[in-house]
Amino acid sequence: MLDQLEATDEWDVIIAGGGATGLGSALDAASRGYKTLLLERFDFAKGTSSRATKLVHGGVRYLAQGNIKLVMEALRERGLLLKNAPHLTRIQPFVLPAYGWWQKMYYGVGLKIYDFMSGKLSIGETRLLSKKTTSGNLPALQQQNLSGGILYYDGQFDDARLALNLAQTAVEHGATVLNYMEVVDLHKEKGFVKGVLAEDSLTGKEYLLKAKAVINATGVFTDDILQMDNEQQEELVSPSQGIHLVVDKKFFPGDHAMMIPKTDDGRVLFAVPWHNEVIIGTTDTPVEEASFEPHALESEIEFIFRNVNRYLTSDITRKDIKSVFAGLRPLVKAPGQKNTAMMPRDHTILVSKSKLVTITGGKWTTYRKMAKDAVDNALFTAKLPRKPCITETLKLHGWTIHKNEQDPLHYYGADEAAIKQLSGENNEWKELIHPEYPYIKAQVIWAVRNEMAMTVEDVLARRIRLLFLDARAAVSAAQPTAMLMAGELKKDETWIQQQVESFRETARGYMI
Ligand SMILES: Cc1cc2nc3c(=O)[nH]c(=O)nc-3n(C[C@H](O)[C@H](O)[C@H](O)COP(=O)(O)OP(=O)(O)OC[C@H]3O[C@@H](n4cnc5c(N)ncnc54)[C@H](O)[C@@H]3O)c2cc1C
Repeated sequence: MLDQLEATDEWDVIIAGGGATGLGSALDAASRGYKTLLLERFDFAKGTSSRATKLVHGGVRYLAQGNIKLVMEALRERGLLLKNAPHLTRIQPFVLPAYGWWQKMYYGVGLKIYDFMSGKLSIGETRLLSKKTTSGNLPALQQQNLSGGILYYDGQFDDARLALNLAQTAVEHGATVLNYMEVVDLHKEKGFVKGVLAEDSLTGKEYLLKAKAVINATGVFTDDILQMDNEQQEELVSPSQGIHLVVDKKFFPGDHAMMIPKTDDGRVLFAVPWHNEVIIGTTDTPVEEASFEPHALESEIEFIFRNVNRYLTSDITRKDIKSVFAGLRPLVKAPGQKNTAMMPRDHTILVSKSKLVTITGGKWTTYRKMAKDAVDNALFTAKLPRKPCITETLKLHGWTIHKNEQDPLHYYGADEAAIKQLSGENNEWKELIHPEYPYIKAQVIWAVRNEMAMTVEDVLARRIRLLFLDARAAVSAAQPTAMLMAGELKKDETWIQQQVESFRETARGYMI
C-alpha cells in the first residue's frame, strides 16, 4: 500500500477516515473505476464503527418518531447488506415483552408496519405472541403482569469485521487503503482543495498527496477537517455517546434478543446475543469533546442496570459485566435542538466553497447509500467523468453462502479455509490464545499477514473481538498475541512490552 502511495502522482479521490462511511466511499469510488486512496489515522473502525449495537436495522425508534424516509431507506439497505455479506450478517429474532393489552396492540401494529415497510426485502413476519411463548423465548423475563409479546426480525452483524471486509473489497477493486496514516492538513491550489498532507502515524513520515476530489468522512472528527479548510466554519457535528454492557449468555438464554420499548428517557434498549455473549445498550449522552477512546460514564452504567433489571427475574450487577464499551454518534446539529436523542439520524453532505466534500451522520446500516451520495457529489464537484455506482449487488470480501455458525471461524466467510490451512502449517498456531475462547493463534498470524493489523489492539479489539467480549481475558491474551505479532513483523522484546502495556492501559477503559 505504501509503495502504491509513493508511485501515484495524482488520485481521482482521496478519502479521510476509515470507518463505515469512509470505507464504503472508498469501495464505491474504486468499484466505479476511479483511482482511490483512503487514509485512516488509527486502525480501520477504531472510531464509532466498531462500537455499534451491531444491528442492521431500519430503526424501530425512528418509525415512532415519524422518520419514514430514514426507516424505508435503512430497511432497503438492511436487505441488500444481508445479501452482499451473508458471512458477517444474520437474521436475528427480537421479542418485545408487553405488559397490558394496550401495549401489545400498540407495539404490535407498529412492528407490523415496520415489517410491511421492508416490502420485498422482508426478513420475517412480525407476530403477536402469547404470554407462554413470550416467556419461552425470553426465559429470564419478569412474568408479573406480562400479557404477551411481539416477535419481529432485524439484522445483526460484526461491525469491525465488516469494515475490514469493505477495505479488502475496495483493494480488490484497485483502491489503496492505509491505516495509521493521518490527514494533518488540506492541500489547496487557487483556493480549491486539491489533495491532503498526510503523516504516517507510526514513522512520522509526511506525504503531500494530490487529488481531483477529497472526501471528509471522519465521523465525530469531521469539524477538525472542516477547520483545516476554513477556520470560520461553524461546527457541523454534535457527538452523542452510547455505551453497551456485555454479559454472559446465561442472563439471556436462548436465541432471541429482547427489545425494551421505553426506557426512563423515552428511548429503546436492546439485549442482543453476539459471539456467544449478550450486548445490552445503549444510551444517548451529549458530549462536549470527541475522543478516540471514549469511556462509559457511571450514570450511563447505572441507567442500563436500572432499565434492564426491571425486566429480569434476577438482577445483573457490576461483577457480571465482562466488558463495557462506549462509542460516539456523529450527529448533525439541528438548529435549536439540544437533546441529542431527538437529533436526526439521517446523513448530511456538505460541499464547501473549496470543493471539499464532507459526509457525516447516518448509520452503519446505510453506509452504502451514504457512500454513493458522497461519491456522486465528489464526481460532480471535481467534474470527473461520471460512471455508475455498482455496489447495490456487489458481494463483499469473504462472501459465501456455506456458513456454519457453529464453527468459530465462520465470520471469515470464504477466507475460513485458508486460515484452517495456515493453522496446519505450524502446530503452535492451532493453540488457543485464551483457554476460555475459541480464538486460535493462526488468527493472529492471519491478521498480520492479510488484514493489516499493526498493533495488539488491532488484533484483540477489531480482527477478533475479545476486548469487546471480555476485557480481562483480552488482557491475558495480550502477551501471546504480541509475541506472535513480533515474529511476523520482525519486532523486538521492547516492542512486545510496549504493546502489552499500551493494550492493558486501553483495556482498563473496558472494565468496570
Ligand atoms: C452507541 C452506538 C450504537 C450504534 N448502533 C448502531 C447500530 O446498531 N446499527 C447501525 O446501523 N448504526 C449504529 N450506530 C451508528 C454507526 O455506528 C455510525 O453511524 C457509524 O459507525 C459512523 O461511521 P463513520 O465512518 O462516519 O465514523 P467513524 O467510524 O468514527 O470513522 C471515522 C474515522 O475517521 C478517522 N479519522 C479522524 N480524523 C482523521 C484524520 N485527520 N485523518 C484520517 N482519519 C481520521 C477516525 O480514526 C475514525 O476511524 C451506532 C452508533 C453508536 C455510537
